[in-house]
Amino acid sequence: MGKPTGFMEHTRELPGDRSPTARIGDWQEFHEHMPEEKLQEQGARCMDCGVPFCHTGQLIGGMAAGCPVNNLIPEWNDLVYQGQWREALDRLHKTNNFPEFTGRVCPAPCEGSCVLGINEPPVTIKNIEVTIIDKAFEEGWVVPQPPLKRTGKKVAVVGSGPAGLACAAQLNSVGHLVTVFERADRIGGLLMYGIPNMKLDKAKVVQRRVDLLAAEGVKFKTGVEIGKNYPAKALLTEFDAVALCTGATKGRDLPIPGRELMGIHFAMDFLRGNTRTLLDGKTGDHFINGKGKHVIVIGGGDTGTDCVGTSMRHGCKSLVQFEIMDRPPDARAGNNPWPQWPKIYRLDYGQEEAKAIFGEDPRVYCILTKKFVGDDAGNVKELHTVHVKWGKDAQGRFGPQEIPGTEKVYKADLVLLAMGFMGPEDTLVKELGVAADERSTYKAEYGRFATSIPGVFAAGDCRRGQSLVVWAINEGRAAARECDRFLMGSTTLP
Ligand SMILES: Cc1cc2nc3c(=O)[nH]c(=O)nc-3n(C[C@H](O)[C@H](O)[C@H](O)COP(=O)(O)OP(=O)(O)OC[C@H]3O[C@@H](n4cnc5c(N)ncnc54)[C@H](O)[C@@H]3O)c2cc1C
Ligand code: SF4
Repeated sequence: MGKPTGFMEHTRELPGDRSPTARIGDWQEFHEHMPEEKLQEQGARCMDCGVPFCHTGQLIGGMAAGCPVNNLIPEWNDLVYQGQWREALDRLHKTNNFPEFTGRVCPAPCEGSCVLGINEPPVTIKNIEVTIIDKAFEEGWVVPQPPLKRTGKKVAVVGSGPAGLACAAQLNSVGHLVTVFERADRIGGLLMYGIPNMKLDKAKVVQRRVDLLAAEGVKFKTGVEIGKNYPAKALLTEFDAVALCTGATKGRDLPIPGRELMGIHFAMDFLRGNTRTLLDGKTGDHFINGKGKHVIVIGGGDTGTDCVGTSMRHGCKSLVQFEIMDRPPDARAGNNPWPQWPKIYRLDYGQEEAKAIFGEDPRVYCILTKKFVGDDAGNVKELHTVHVKWGKDAQGRFGPQEIPGTEKVYKADLVLLAMGFMGPEDTLVKELGVAADERSTYKAEYGRFATSIPGVFAAGDCRRGQSLVVWAINEGRAAARECDRFLMGSTTLP
């Protein structure tokens, strides 16, 4: 695959991003494209390694190694190198319904396990993926493909994130009549109201795919919350099967003194309100403004980074991001070998922007917030913190231990809690009676995706816990396959 000597002739190259100081002035995507010929050279670097790990999608040490949707990466690298873009698109769509999403937001575990990556920088797989699909849209190759005949079976999909959309797309493709219920006012789940516009454009990219699915026959109902304004049990009588794709939407709180103060918000309220304001073209009660404020983001993951990038675009006065874990090493540690996901230090887009304006990476590592302190009007004004070190306590339990003498006070008038998610809300557990495990995620074995209720399947973050877009697509597709098998007795879906 690729050019046998390509990896010796060409070095890894990615298109530059827009400059941090320019891009914080708008909400447009920050990635740029690379000329086609350059990209073909990058495809040529795929070296026909014989045993490609990049498309395996296995879990090693709890982290994905290789592509979770098993994209046929060496095949499309070769096709891109040969200039056969249309064929590359067909290969890409075989395994991934939405490469325009993953090609923009996936952390690319494929690249972490690329064989070339053992001793050279890996192939730029993610960038090749996004270019194939973006070119395909530009060329008009991506058109609605409604099924040739209908089965007459009706399926309800609850939740319109990547899991729900992938599940709906697959079920619709084999002729079932699919209705997607979404409580928000727009379709897309966290693709629409989580990941900000500068990473994934809502109108040009997310809505474009939703429109295609609608043109293929998928029905979308927004503003419908199953279990609240639509009885959950009615789904069991009105539909032949149900797929729950409700996400892991319960945010982790920080119940410490002062939590009730004004100015402390869940990250998702901040991000959702911001995207809504952007799309509606007007502010409302949902809008939380970081302009001119001292912002502290608690949590160092993707959600925290998106809060940083959003606050930078609001024009915050200062920005600090707390991370309770240690700073990762600059290169793979000895206990994190290839083909595992490399747990290394990265300057993501938000931190890069904060650094460009304030002079340094905003992250503070190994820090714990002890209390919030407010002013007389009840607004947060300070965070009291202490540094921690990771190790075993007297009882032999591993965890963060406070370091005496490292107490510090941070000034803040906007605090954003981005410490992860605690699984799905319990509405459907109560209203539908679906069984959940101790982490509150719906019980449904990976591979079968069947919940405790016959004919009801679960996929995505609501089943596996907070994860990635690419895993949500993997699960949505596989749950559709099992759902089709349940409806028809056998299935042709992958
Ligand atoms: C801020 C943020 C940034 C992220 N960035 C990335 C990233 O860069 N790359 C990446 O790979 N992953 C990222 N993730 C994770 C990724 O977005 C999720 O793993 C993925 O969206 C999960 O998909 P899902 O379909 O399972 O659920 P979701 O996308 O959460 O969608 C679930 C949907 O179900 C709806 N719903 C819930 N209950 C009901 C009900 N009772 N009735 C009707 N509708 C209901 C919700 O409103 C929601 O729209 C990010 C997550 C967050 C929060
Ligand atoms: S979906 Fe993610 S892991 Fe798979 S090829 Fe694309 S970037 Fe790599």
